[in-house]
Amino acid sequence: MTHDAKHAVPAPIQKTLPIVGSDERFPVRRIYCVGRNYVAHVREMGGDETRDFPLIFQKPADSVVQDGDVVPYPPKTDNFHFELELMVVMKSGGYNIPEDEALSHVFGYGICLDMTRRTLLDTPDGPRLPWELKKSFDHSAPLGPIYPVEQVGHPSSGSIRLEVDGVAKQDSDLNLMIWRTPEIISTLSRYFSLEPGDVIMTGTPDGVGPVLPGNVLVGSIDTLGTLTVTIGEPAVASAA
Ligand code: MN
Repeated sequence: MTHDAKHAVPAPIQKTLPIVGSDERFPVRRIYCVGRNYVAHVREMGGDETRDFPLIFQKPADSVVQDGDVVPYPPKTDNFHFELELMVVMKSGGYNIPEDEALSHVFGYGICLDMTRRTLLDTPDGPRLPWELKKSFDHSAPLGPIYPVEQVGHPSSGSIRLEVDGVAKQDSDLNLMIWRTPEIISTLSRYFSLEPGDVIMTGTPDGVGPVLPGNVLVGSIDTLGTLTVTIGEPAVASAA
């Protein structure tokens, strides 16, 4: 099949993100996520280990929600949580990237939300089950504008803060990440070939909690602006 062959069904739309100070857009290839990466959040989730192997999962690239858009309340939960995180986006990569070379593959940074069905209704649950149903659903990845490295360097400390309807819910500092950005990139690259367009969510600090339709979420990280989304009415009629 040649690349200009007709598709049998409509081709997926490539999600892209705005780049601050540029007319170009950043095409999203994959969204990797790291869980349990701030000690205080590990503890609020009932854990006590601080240096376990990082918990790694993915969200589908078509789950991206743009800054300013609506996140429909998802089906099969009554406990829909925000997790505000530092986003790292890649301009290059490959396998087996050494830690001391990792940052040279970073295109830029931004703010993201790892929206989570913390509780699943009428669904088997347990530590042995994969996280897709809780993490990898439609509209689960609000991603903010990208700030290129040339503008902001490599943020490793600074305020990370989320407000819901103007009330602070998460208020921490990037320097409390257990696995630092170079370690995350190096570790991921031992299992996956990182490629241009890859996005990495680096884990959330403590203070996660539930939201409801109508809530307005505003995340901010020092030097990386803000990310705003509104929780919308249920995506499908409630038939839990
Ligand atoms: Mn997370």
